[in-house]
Amino acid sequence: MTADGFRRVVKCHLRRIRDAVLTVRAEDATKKGLYDTRKAALAVLIAFAGPVAAFDICAVVDIDRVGFERNEAVKNVDGAHWWIEMGGDLLLCGHADLITEAHDLGHGIDRIYHDIDPTRIRLIRGESNDREWDHLVQSLLRHRRLEVIQLQQANQTEMTALLGHSKIEPLPLPVTVIRQAENSPQKTTRHFGESTQTLVDEVDQARWFSDLETLASYNRYSYGDGIFDAENWIVQQLTAMPGMTVTTPGFSMGGREVHNVVGTLVGTARPDEWYIVGAHYDSTSENPQAAAPGAEDNASGCAGVLEMARIFSANPPHASVLFICYVGEEQGLLGSIDHASDLVSTGDSSRVQAMLNMDMIGFTSDSDLDCLLESESIGQFLIDAFSAAATTYTTLRIETTLFAWGSDHVPYLDRSIPALLTIENDWADYPDYHETGDLPNNITLAMGREILKMNVAALAEMAGGDSVLIFIDGFESGNLGRWTE
Ligand SMILES: [Zn+2]
Repeated sequence: MTADGFRRVVKCHLRRIRDAVLTVRAEDATKKGLYDTRKAALAVLIAFAGPVAAFDICAVVDIDRVGFERNEAVKNVDGAHWWIEMGGDLLLCGHADLITEAHDLGHGIDRIYHDIDPTRIRLIRGESNDREWDHLVQSLLRHRRLEVIQLQQANQTEMTALLGHSKIEPLPLPVTVIRQAENSPQKTTRHFGESTQTLVDEVDQARWFSDLETLASYNRYSYGDGIFDAENWIVQQLTAMPGMTVTTPGFSMGGREVHNVVGTLVGTARPDEWYIVGAHYDSTSENPQAAAPGAEDNASGCAGVLEMARIFSANPPHASVLFICYVGEEQGLLGSIDHASDLVSTGDSSRVQAMLNMDMIGFTSDSDLDCLLESESIGQFLIDAFSAAATTYTTLRIETTLFAWGSDHVPYLDRSIPALLTIENDWADYPDYHETGDLPNNITLAMGREILKMNVAALAEMAGGDSVLIFIDGFESGNLGRWTE
C-alpha cells in the first residue's frame, strides 16, 4: 500500500471510531453507534439513519473497496432509507432506484437482495453453531455474533417460536436497545505490587488441566443425573481449601432442585468488600442425554475457578472473594441469574465491587493467544485493569468489547454490578462447540494458563490488599512514593 493510501485508511478508521463513540448525534437523534474493538484494525460500527421506512431492496457494499468517503455518500443518496455497518460491510436498504443512484460504486457492491420486506427483517445476536433454524431465514449480513436476517414469509410463526427457545436475541428495528459502547481501552501501563508476581507464579497449569479432565468425565447436562455428581465433586474440592466456607444454594429447574456451588473466603481486612469469581459448570451437546463432556465449555472455566480458589485460599485476600460454579447456564444463564437476583434481594449487591466470569478459556485455533475482555461501560475499569495485568504478566494479546452477551457476567451487569467476561477469542471457530467431541485433547495448556495468570494478577491487585493499583501516568489513585519510583 502506498503512503497516501495508508494515510487515507488510517483517517478513515479514525473517523469511524470517532463517529462510533458518539451515541447520539446532535443532527440525528435516532442514530445509535456501537464500537467494537474486537477487530483491531477495522472498527465495527452499527448505526441507523432515521426511522425504518418502507424499502424493498438491500445491497451489501464492501467499505474498504469503495473507500470511506463514497461509503458515507452512498448512505445519503435518494432511495436509501436504512443502513447498518458490520465489520467491513455496509448493508444499505431502500427502493429500487437506490441501485441506480449507487451505480458508481460499481464493483464495490458485493451482492443485492430483491424482494425485501422490512417487517420481516431482524437484527439478531446469537450463536453461530447449531443453526437448526437456518432454513427459516435468509441471512443478509453477518459479523461475529451479529447478523441481519429476513424471516421467510411462510415460516414466521415457526421461526418466532424457535427464537424463543434458543440463545438468539432478536433486536427490534430501529435498534434502541444496543447498550452504549465506548472507545478503546485506556492506557494500560500500571505498577503492580511485588506480592502479585508471587501469586501469579502459583498458577499451576497441570493442576488446572487435571481438574478440567475430571470435570469432563462427568455428563454435566443440567437436566441429567451426572450434574449432581459434578456438583458433589466441586463441593469436595472447595471444602478441602483452607478458610473456605461452602454453600450450595438451590433453585428449581425442570421440576427439580439444582444447585450453584459457592465457596467464600472472608476478607482479612475488608470483609464487606466482595469480589466474585464465577464460571458455569454445566455443559451441553448435540446429544446431551448421552454425553456432554464440555471440556472447553465450560470445564475450562470451572477448573479455572478452582485453581484461583486454591491460590487465594493459600494467600488470604484482604477483601472477601466468592468462588462460584453455576448450573443451568446453557438453558439461559439460570444459575447466575439466581445468584445475582439473590444479591439484589438481600441488599448485598452494593458490596460487590466486581464479578469475573470465565467461559471457555482453554482453546486456541493458532499460535496467537488472543483473549477477549467483554463488559459494558460500568466495567470499563475492569477491562483496563485486566488489560494491564495481561501486559505485565502474560503473553496474551487482548481484544475488548463493551457489547456484553450470552454468559454469566450478563445477569450481574443487568443489575448494575460491574462484571467482566474473560474468554479465548477463537471460541467462534471452536469446531466442537456444544458437541460430544468437546474433549480435553482440544485444550491448549498455555491458553488457559495465561488467562489464569491475568485473572490472578488482576484479582490480587483488587482484593489482595498489600499492593495498590497505580497509574504510572497520573494521580488517579494511590501511592505517590511508588509512582515516583
Ligand atoms: Zn459456556
